[in-house]
Amino acid sequence: MKQQLDKSSAMSMDIFEKISGHEQVVFCNDPSTGLQAIIAIHNTTLGPALGGTRMYPYATVEDALEDVLRLSEGMTYKCAAADIDFGGGKGVIIGDPKTDKSPALFRAYGQFVDSLNGRFYTGTDMGTTMDDFVQAAKETNFINGIPEEFGGGGDSSIPTAEGVLYGLKATNKYLFGNESLTSITYAIQGLGKVGYKVANHLLQIGATIIVTDISEDALTAIQEKGAKSPGTVTIVESDEIYGVDADIFVPCAMGGILNDETIERLKVKAIVGSANNQLKEDYHAKVLHEKGILYAPDYIVNAGGLIQVADELYGANKARVLLKTKAIYQSIIEVYKQSELDAVTTLEAANRKCRERLEEQRGRNNFFRRERSPKWTFYK
Ligand code: NAD
Repeated sequence: MKQQLDKSSAMSMDIFEKISGHEQVVFCNDPSTGLQAIIAIHNTTLGPALGGTRMYPYATVEDALEDVLRLSEGMTYKCAAADIDFGGGKGVIIGDPKTDKSPALFRAYGQFVDSLNGRFYTGTDMGTTMDDFVQAAKETNFINGIPEEFGGGGDSSIPTAEGVLYGLKATNKYLFGNESLTSITYAIQGLGKVGYKVANHLLQIGATIIVTDISEDALTAIQEKGAKSPGTVTIVESDEIYGVDADIFVPCAMGGILNDETIERLKVKAIVGSANNQLKEDYHAKVLHEKGILYAPDYIVNAGGLIQVADELYGANKARVLLKTKAIYQSIIEVYKQSELDAVTTLEAANRKCRERLEEQRGRNNFFRRERSPKWTFYK
């Protein structure tokens, strides 16, 4: 007989309401290693869920749940936009990455991932490293984004930077009728793994870049490159980057940088960068639209890394990844055109495109198909 839920329990009602947009949420608890984690599978219409695992000292379990639900939903859109056959998922481990990590904790996490039997593939995100997932991969095959020596694709910032360059080419083509990257001035925020590669490429082809970073080492490195290349580099203070005279703003540092205060100061014609969650709130897409600034949705521009980890599951192949990353050019052009045609923001045009792809596939491929399991094994 079906057990009656205790209707007086506000907790059970709230949780199911909270996760109503998701397929599955798994709480992982392993007292012996101190592991407390939540895995959220948002949508497997396009294939098994794919998404990194973040480690962060969340103040409360509610905060961790909120984060994992939001991030896993974002992955559904990212996968749909990148045209890869994976759905949206994400994991969060509650803890301080500086003090609470151990190989045993990641092995325990790997066991929980394995228990999902291929419904969820994961790898690094904020607060976790490839080494952590080398540990997890001792317990499960459903891990990606690990070093090449372990069968992975290695540094994902290479295709991510490549994708940003395709996004820039598409934007130049759309705005100026010519995809050449050369005679344009770029304002680049952040010269880390992705930003440095983008900046370096632009310098090598003779473009003008204005850059900022909070790391002196990063600034010295790009200045030295600039001195030996045909391009021109100017360094500005961290906060100055928003107001510089440039054609395109390239955010490659942190999220939330497109907000009421910064948009007011922008003089650029477009924004194309790798940073995740660039818009502080979705309505900022409208603010940009009304100001006549073309915004390339971040989740399309920065999909190169995702394309690599998805591709890895069929055997790492760098050439194939770079080929697939090229599609970012066309996706961005289509989003710009659709936005113009429908008189909506570029974000809305991109989101609609993703929803259409999900709708097309629903019913045909609406659950994880076992044969999608990786056709590869790697050293354990
Ligand atoms: P990273 O940590 O290597 O580089 C970030 C850089 O930004 C660092 O040099 C840092 O000093 C700088 N920075 C931090 N705060 C700053 C500030 N206030 N002003 C200026 N510079 C600042 O990270 P990354 O891998 O290059 O990623 C950059 C962004 O792209 C992140 O938002 C990341 O989430 C996103 N992203 C990266 C990938 C990837 O494959 N690496 C994929 C998708 C999205």
